[in-house]
Amino acid sequence: MPTTYTARWLFPVAGPPLARGTLTVDGEYITHVSPHGVMKPDVDLGQVAIIPGLVNAHTHLDLSGARGQIPPTTADKFPDWLGAVIAYRRQTRMTLDDIHTGLAESLRYGTTCLGDISTDGASFPILAAAPVRAVVYHEVLGLIPKRYEAMLERFQAWLASTADTPTVRRGISPHAPYSTASRVYEVARQLEPRLQIATHLAESPAEMMLLRTHSGPMRQFLDSILAWDPSGLMGWDSPLYIHELRDCPRGLIVHGNWLNGYLYADAIPSNLSLVVCPRTHAAFGHPLHPWPTFAAAGVRVAVGTDSLASNPDLDILAELRCLRRTNPDIPGEQLLRKGTLNGADALGFADITGSLEAGKSADFVAIPVPDVNTDDPHELLLGDDHGTRSVWFRGEKVV
Ligand SMILES: [Zn+2]
Repeated sequence: MPTTYTARWLFPVAGPPLARGTLTVDGEYITHVSPHGVMKPDVDLGQVAIIPGLVNAHTHLDLSGARGQIPPTTADKFPDWLGAVIAYRRQTRMTLDDIHTGLAESLRYGTTCLGDISTDGASFPILAAAPVRAVVYHEVLGLIPKRYEAMLERFQAWLASTADTPTVRRGISPHAPYSTASRVYEVARQLEPRLQIATHLAESPAEMMLLRTHSGPMRQFLDSILAWDPSGLMGWDSPLYIHELRDCPRGLIVHGNWLNGYLYADAIPSNLSLVVCPRTHAAFGHPLHPWPTFAAAGVRVAVGTDSLASNPDLDILAELRCLRRTNPDIPGEQLLRKGTLNGADALGFADITGSLEAGKSADFVAIPVPDVNTDDPHELLLGDDHGTRSVWFRGEKVV
């Protein structure tokens, strides 16, 4: 039996908000999205906005134990923060509990689709058993051949011992050009069959200086942990490997805080997306993020929380609210799209989720909103938080 839901607002994202619109769900799929008065509602969710399940395009669930323990530094001290993360990881080891904690928190906030960077791919079976869609990117790094060859071996073993599920796919994440040899990027893009890729890029001024001059605080840091080897390092003048990722099914360029002057929008092929992490960006005090320029040039922009090592929580709506504060001129409709449909598209799930449309999976969230009149109902979502959310995945209420 189909169920028709209504609420104060319905945000299909694929179209304009509908005041007291209805969403009809049959089994796990949406069958109708209608303006008020067309379908008779069975369930009135009240003073809430129904929106598509949120999409967190970049996180590291296995760092969920680090909340509040590694305060972000200023942007110029980024290598110090990185050192603290590595020290934290060596002391605590990764635990599956941390992945469960991060997953439960993500669901509570209404995230039904995520891109997770994973040490040894450990989150794969947990996410595959959970009410969520995901791409699990097995992390590989190292400038020194012995280091990255060992990691590639572990990655290949993981690939051979797992299989994609209907909701979770496997990907690979060469960590970043300052920490990872170009050979790893080469292997990643030549895998057969092709896998989805994610890489951190242009995150800190120290990274940009290292790529340009092979010196500076990142060089000192890599020296200090015996990880420096310039032989495999990509050069400042050749971010061309980005273009070489054009044959991957989907790829993510994560952060991009310092992309200006390094990579131009027209060098980014359409299968790649730029993932910004607004609150992490703000916590390090980087200058205003250049993403609006890239978005205006046609690059798909999605949003991530990054990990709890640099962020207070895993709430994508809080990231969009941060973007509202830093970019007050961008229409709310575009911001909501970054945390839903753009994210789903960036992760290769736009055919099944990311918007409320007939035929898509019934993945949606009920967000409490204030009872006020407004010219743009998106602002009701992008203002203050008004309480606990309810979440549906494939038609079932899961939170
Ligand atoms: Zn990250």
